[in-house]
Amino acid sequence: MAAQLTFDALKDAVKAGEIDTVLACLVDMQGRLMGKRFHAVNFVETSFEETHCCNYLLATDLEMATPPGYASSSWQGGYGDYIMAPDLTTLRRVPWLEGTAMVLCDVLDHHSHDPVPHSPRAMLKQQIARLQDLGFDAMMATELEFFLFEKSFDEIRKEGFRDLAPISGYNEDYHILQTTKEESVMRPIRNHLFDAGIPVENTKGEAETGQEELNIRYAAALDCADHHTIAKNAVKEIAWQQGHAASFLPKWHRDKIGSSSHVHQSLWRDGTPVFYDADAELGMSEVMAQYMAGLITYAPDYTFFLAPYVNSYKRFAKGTFAPTKTVWSVDNRTAGFRLCGDGTKGIRVECRIGGSDLNPYLAQAAMLAAGIKGIEDKMTLAPPTSGDVYDDGSAADIPQTLRAATETLRTSEFLRAAFGDRVVDHYVRAAEWEQEEFDRVVTDWEIARGFERA
Ligand code: ADP
Repeated sequence: MAAQLTFDALKDAVKAGEIDTVLACLVDMQGRLMGKRFHAVNFVETSFEETHCCNYLLATDLEMATPPGYASSSWQGGYGDYIMAPDLTTLRRVPWLEGTAMVLCDVLDHHSHDPVPHSPRAMLKQQIARLQDLGFDAMMATELEFFLFEKSFDEIRKEGFRDLAPISGYNEDYHILQTTKEESVMRPIRNHLFDAGIPVENTKGEAETGQEELNIRYAAALDCADHHTIAKNAVKEIAWQQGHAASFLPKWHRDKIGSSSHVHQSLWRDGTPVFYDADAELGMSEVMAQYMAGLITYAPDYTFFLAPYVNSYKRFAKGTFAPTKTVWSVDNRTAGFRLCGDGTKGIRVECRIGGSDLNPYLAQAAMLAAGIKGIEDKMTLAPPTSGDVYDDGSAADIPQTLRAATETLRTSEFLRAAFGDRVVDHYVRAAEWEQEEFDRVVTDWEIARGFERA
């Protein structure tokens, strides 16, 4: 996508006093924006070339811990610096923050200036380059689902995350009346993002109390991941400005439906969709069938990149629209992969496995790698499934726990070939650490269940 703000336009805006702050951000393993707030004059004079950050930013957890066991960053290694290199094509205004612009940065090794291989943006760029070598471009869309709550993050934290009250009192799937009541949050989200150059399609109420969906028009894979990451951050910031919390935790209550991030995917060549073949059944080209065969075959290997936390796996439950099986189906929301737009140029595959907590760079990198493998190996697509796939005993399951997904990641020869051992080992360590942290905790459930009765 063309820059929302050229560097020259930024310089003019700084001179005119319209912009005084530039956010320089990298994307961390968790898919969050991390970085610094520059005085705009400093940014346009010097820091636009590069800035620096501690290398623990790509080896930490949600709580900014310094877990042991990473080859790239450690106390022994002295936790040195990475270079943050602003990608000036991502420069844009941040309309929901006064006088502010933002740029995304690539993460480079401090000494060699090579991209840091486990940096999410670098991983996605690498798979896009592999796909381009085959003559294809990937167009992607990631849906964002989340919950809005009556209270703010700070109030909820001070109250110990108890008695959480969603912003609405009933299932608001497609509801206009209820979502009208939420427009103080959702309208600025749509409009500010749009003004920041992010092609918002729509928002809608989702299938739970307080649940929302934000749809952004499909775009080239890297732009799609950039849009998703900026939008997720914006949703939280704009909800906070309005006194509400917006949570992307995939499952915040055992009885409530979880939040997902479905990923729509199609391949193109010279601006023409290559997934479409007018003469083929369903309009599905051979390339699409091979791509989908790779996606489905290797889904267990890359499930971690769609479901990276212990909580992510609580979402995968029968009868909830969250899939449990690695099969495909035509416009059927119970399967892991749904064929959409059959018989049209808009034919695409939607992966429904990912939770709202996925990192879009990692998810897309892993799925592109699987699709590339399907094309390279000319894999054969199994026939579609139909009906209620949850009860299809012959269909393969996706890993049911973080522990299981860690093992399928660790032992994935395909991902080791696509990403390299160092990168896979890095994310295996992230997965292990998440599990280790959880295993150390004594939960409220254990106490209530066993305190008297055990
Ligand atoms: P749904 O019924 O799943 O809501 P939509 O028509 O709203 O379907 O499309 C969902 C997402 O798919 C949107 O973000 C849209 O931009 C994206 N999309 C549409 N066509 C394509 C395509 N050819 N490739 C990838 N994504 C696409």
